[in-house]
Amino acid sequence: MIVARRKPLEEIKIQLKGYKKVLNVGCGTCVAVCLAGGEKEVAVLNAELDMARKMENQPVEIDAITLERQCDREYLAELDAIAKNYEAILSMACGVGVQFLAERFPEIPVFPAVDTSGLAVNQDVGWYEERCRSCESCVLGQTGGICPVTMCAKGLYNGPCGGTNNGSCEIHIDQPCAWYMIYERLKKQGRLDCILEIIPAQNWKNQVPRTLVQPGYKKIEVKKAS
Ligand code: SF4
Ligand code: SF4
Repeated sequence: MIVARRKPLEEIKIQLKGYKKVLNVGCGTCVAVCLAGGEKEVAVLNAELDMARKMENQPVEIDAITLERQCDREYLAELDAIAKNYEAILSMACGVGVQFLAERFPEIPVFPAVDTSGLAVNQDVGWYEERCRSCESCVLGQTGGICPVTMCAKGLYNGPCGGTNNGSCEIHIDQPCAWYMIYERLKKQGRLDCILEIIPAQNWKNQVPRTLVQPGYKKIEVKKAS
């Protein structure tokens, strides 16, 4: 899932400076699960903002709504009738949700209330570990299901650097070396030959905004282009 962390109150306050009527929009999916931007977090943030602005003698009217998902047009439609009543919108969704809201309501400033961290797994309550950086050239088949882009401090594709040390990465003794783990995993599977396959240099497609169309939806893309 996508994980995010709420921005510090001060940063949110600076973004909302001067706005007197604001709608805070939560998202009921990933950011709700990782406790950053669901219904509960919207309520907490609104209470904090309300109190802070009152103390500064700059009261703000801040309403709350939490959509099922902010990355889906179907759910954004809920805001069409009410968005115009606000001077600004605060979004507690990931960066994708914020951008989708800003695109739908271009005349209203939309501000992010969370910092999006990445794609992660839930290791324990409140503990999320990044596992994928959406590189769009997945090599997990060759690396025993361990992502070298995310797990190796240098994002190396072809074996360890000289810093690997008894299973640890040179950045910290408690940080396992990704390539040590990959070696051990492939050894267990009897697939050590995979490690000898050279993974070609990537052209870092992920440095520019991309459109991902699932195979079943390809027809729509072709129709749009023609
Ligand atoms: S190689 Fe790593 S970053 Fe790239 S898609 Fe696979 S898991 Fe994600
Ligand atoms: S020690 Fe291992 S994980 Fe650390 S940067 Fe080198 S190859 Fe990557």
